[in-house]
Amino acid sequence: MSSSPAVLMRLMASAFSVAEKAGDVVRSVLKAGDLDVVAKTGANDLQTKADRLAQQSICASLARKFPRITIIGEELVVWVDPLDGTKEYTEGLLDHVTVLIGVAYEGRAIGGVINQPFYNYEMGPGAVLGRTIWGVLGLGAFGFDLREVPAGQHIVTTTRSHSNKLVTDCVDAMRPHKVIRVGGAGNKIIQLIEGKASAYVFASPGCKKWDTCAPEAILHAVGGKLADVHGNSYTYHRDVQHMNAAGVLATLRDFDYYASRVPASVKLALLTA
Ligand code: AMP
Ligand code: MG
Ligand code: MG
Repeated sequence: MSSSPAVLMRLMASAFSVAEKAGDVVRSVLKAGDLDVVAKTGANDLQTKADRLAQQSICASLARKFPRITIIGEELVVWVDPLDGTKEYTEGLLDHVTVLIGVAYEGRAIGGVINQPFYNYEMGPGAVLGRTIWGVLGLGAFGFDLREVPAGQHIVTTTRSHSNKLVTDCVDAMRPHKVIRVGGAGNKIIQLIEGKASAYVFASPGCKKWDTCAPEAILHAVGGKLADVHGNSYTYHRDVQHMNAAGVLATLRDFDYYASRVPASVKLALLTA
């Protein structure tokens, strides 16, 4: 794909505006007040009208602007989570919510857009609501101020609504000074790059490729690492298994410290075929 830098940058520019439009949809559904919540596989796997409308909006816009995307789809794959943090959205924890558009090339996450529709929502009138963070591998990430947790501080961010014994065993093994339980994969990566947490630890299946593609690209663009609990990278080819079956471990710095602390029992339980 000789024109890949040009195609990638056009795709990133479109993904940026498409994610902002999806963020508008997510805000307006909440404002209208009818979320029309559907349980997909169970009470902890929800979908709302905002998930559905944002998905339609993103897919229709990208398909219109990039009719050839399916032709180059073998190499260039777009992973979309129209609303990450649905559970928190239904509970009014609005700053946990993001719209995620990730771009993978030859199986690697290389570009990502994270729109946070309710950023600043507690700041009161006058504050600009919402923001968009984006990044490309080899170029950097933009739309936020990169900060690190002070050296030696182990602050772990993890799930608030999909926890289980493996998750808590792994979090405890990190010997954290502090644990932050929040919703959304996108939101947790924002915490890493803004210096609020030093590691995202989720030792369980549950997260999907569309949860991690955009966050991974942005994190990697600023020198961080997202992998499974064994330290193995995920791949994002079109035919890959959707489930991140061996969990998620992500850091901006010191990946090896956290990887070395994952208990053997957790690794054994999350062995993949
Ligand atoms: P969380 O940190 O719990 O907000 O999860 C991050 C992403 O993974 C969200 O999109 C969740 O919906 C998804 N996820 C994690 N665990 C599960 C699960 N057990 N069932 C369904 N989705 C999950
Ligand atoms: Mg999600
Ligand atoms: Mg979602």
